[in-house]
Amino acid sequence: MNLWQQLVGQDRAIEQLTLAAAQDRPSHAWLFSGQPGVGVPQAALTFATALLCQQEDPAARACGICPACQSVQAGSHPDLVHFVTEKSSISIEEARDLVVKAQDRPSLGRWRIILLEDADRMPERTSNVLLKAIEEPPPYTIWLLTTPSPAQVLITIRSRCRAVPLATPRPQQVAAYLQTQLGLSPETADLTARLAQGNLDVARQLASDPDARQRRTQVVSLPLTLRNLPAAMDAADRLISIAEAQAEADAQARNQADREALLRALGYEEGDKLSPTHRAQVRQLEEDQKRRAKRIQTDTLDRFLSDLQTLLRDVLTLQVGSGSELINLHLADQITAYAQQKSPQQTLELLETLKLTRRRIQGNVSPRLAFEALMASFLPSS
Ligand SMILES: [Zn+2]
Repeated sequence: MNLWQQLVGQDRAIEQLTLAAAQDRPSHAWLFSGQPGVGVPQAALTFATALLCQQEDPAARACGICPACQSVQAGSHPDLVHFVTEKSSISIEEARDLVVKAQDRPSLGRWRIILLEDADRMPERTSNVLLKAIEEPPPYTIWLLTTPSPAQVLITIRSRCRAVPLATPRPQQVAAYLQTQLGLSPETADLTARLAQGNLDVARQLASDPDARQRRTQVVSLPLTLRNLPAAMDAADRLISIAEAQAEADAQARNQADREALLRALGYEEGDKLSPTHRAQVRQLEEDQKRRAKRIQTDTLDRFLSDLQTLLRDVLTLQVGSGSELINLHLADQITAYAQQKSPQQTLELLETLKLTRRRIQGNVSPRLAFEALMASFLPSS
């Protein structure tokens, strides 16, 4: 199967990219952007695959079956450098390393491709390291950058790249994907697609994990029943606990494995005495793991905010009587009761508070304080 078909709801981007992949000299720098979960890294990787694909016919590229396509999919193509970070910022050293790798001649295909995810995580000093490399790369090098939004990437970088804005897939497109690719029944696919709001990662998780479905319902119904301030504080506490548990579960699954892999790579068995240099490397790994845990927690809390946003959208839909279908249809009774306790103006203010909470948890405000303030603002006005 042609790999382009795996992208959901991206007809315009696919048209732009397949044309480019068929050219003799495609642009040498690209910036893919789109909301989390719409498939930004997948689109960039599929474009990389099309550029490296061995099919003679340009229309058949990203075929998915030739050796080049298969090694890209397996993450082992020698001409593709795929950089992903789990840290909150990309370091100058990491950028320099990519600049060096961008100079290497391709060994199999025509192109040397550097796929750099989350270019928005480059501080200005890091961006400056990449500038020249992106502006005047060797003729065989193509840079693919990704970001949630172009505005989050420095203008100097952005202006040197061809923009590939990805669409947010419509619920019908997500539902069709869930039915055909994951085998969901039409009803479950519709419900899941509505709740996922164009986020395919969320759709896949809700489709495959009953706990995730239950947790989402918990999160969305939590603010609807708050009666007083202590209850609001408890609700904030529960949300924070769920996010901490999520980070903890991930840590248990991965930290020990990462540590063992590092020790093996350094030539040690567990329990061996480490040299000072290697001890520093293990400490660095532990620091990275702490940062990763923090990021998972922040991402989970951010997800809760997106879920709560769908709740407020439903409340507003009922208050202004727009007649649009509710996203959280399964909670219609509770949401209707809540909508009657507030005015549309108050719901709009709540949406603003939600945005502020999002900025706070991405910044350095304690998540607990941010969520306590948010939950308190959901209380019925006295
Ligand atoms: Zn191929």
